Amino acid sequence: MKAEPIDLRSDTVTRPTPAMRRAIAVAEVGDDLFGDDPTAQRLQSMVAERLGKEAALFVPTGTMANEIAIKLHTQPSDEVLCEADSHIFHYETGAAALLSGVTLSMIVGERGQITPEQVRAARRPDSFHSPRSRLLVIENTHNHAGGTVWSPRDLSAIAAAGRAEGLRLHLDGARLWNAAIATGRSVAELAAPFDSVSVCLSKGLGAPVGSLIAGSHSLMEEALRWRKLFGGAMRQVGILAAAGLHALEHHVERLIDDHRRAQRFADVAAALGFTIAGAPVESNIVIFDVAALGLEVSDVVADLAREGVRVNGFGGTRVRAVFHLDIDDAAAEAAGEALKRVAG
Ligand SMILES: *Cc1c(COP(=O)(O)O)cnc(C)c1O
Repeated sequence: MKAEPIDLRSDTVTRPTPAMRRAIAVAEVGDDLFGDDPTAQRLQSMVAERLGKEAALFVPTGTMANEIAIKLHTQPSDEVLCEADSHIFHYETGAAALLSGVTLSMIVGERGQITPEQVRAARRPDSFHSPRSRLLVIENTHNHAGGTVWSPRDLSAIAAAGRAEGLRLHLDGARLWNAAIATGRSVAELAAPFDSVSVCLSKGLGAPVGSLIAGSHSLMEEALRWRKLFGGAMRQVGILAAAGLHALEHHVERLIDDHRRAQRFADVAAALGFTIAGAPVESNIVIFDVAALGLEVSDVVADLAREGVRVNGFGGTRVRAVFHLDIDDAAAEAAGEALKRVAG
């Protein structure tokens, strides 16, 4: 029998565990648009409470959560300040331009992180000539930079700088639980300075579908309208929410194991001469550059695939490997051994 490939393409490739499937099977459901789905309501309450926000709303994807947030905080022709490699810029299909009619002002960060000085410099003066600088979006952990984690102190400082400039604040927390585990802080503490937060259940937490946006009661009332308009209002959504509840109860503490395995894999890659993006690795993402070894991304991806390890090219000469619920110690070790053979 051929072994299953070790799939490090993303932490979204996880499949529901048997226990999660049982939770889905017995979920109490109702029509969520009538407010009748008790499981969805339970998930929304739990996430709001954990994030320290008044309310939360279940949405199908993290992209929708972020795009609802941008819609809530801006008017057409406004400008959104974000780090140049942020998810809202690279991976949301230009949605902010279409759905909210805003422009994105890119601030080039280091390890996905920007400084208060950069925010102050990017904030435009009030003038009828210029777009209004309205919203600052921060990503934690930062995907494109290599799963980098904001230190709680820098995170407070950047939020304070945005606030002082009169900006609304949104946190793209698709992997906020990873950031919390990496820093030993609560997600509520990390989310506290922000007007809105998005979190994903379908990344490292291992649920098949789902994200949430959280904020004040009044903001989430408005979010309900935009969720409907964007096509994200669903009916017996408890089927999905049950998976999320199960993930929050059982799959958060274990994220530390993903981080440890990612760090070990990064050590192997670094010892082979690959350059690690955003080093040191702080969470579950390892992005390694193959240029220093004179290798081609397409060859590394294909050679690893022949070894039973799946990874993705991640732009230029970079490859990304992501550690998650379906990768145990043995699989992580095997991936490292495969990389040694491919590099050698
Ligand atoms: C995955 C991700 C999202 C949301 O992606 P979806 O695939 O739409 O759920 C948002 N932000 C970041 C940083 C992400 O990694």
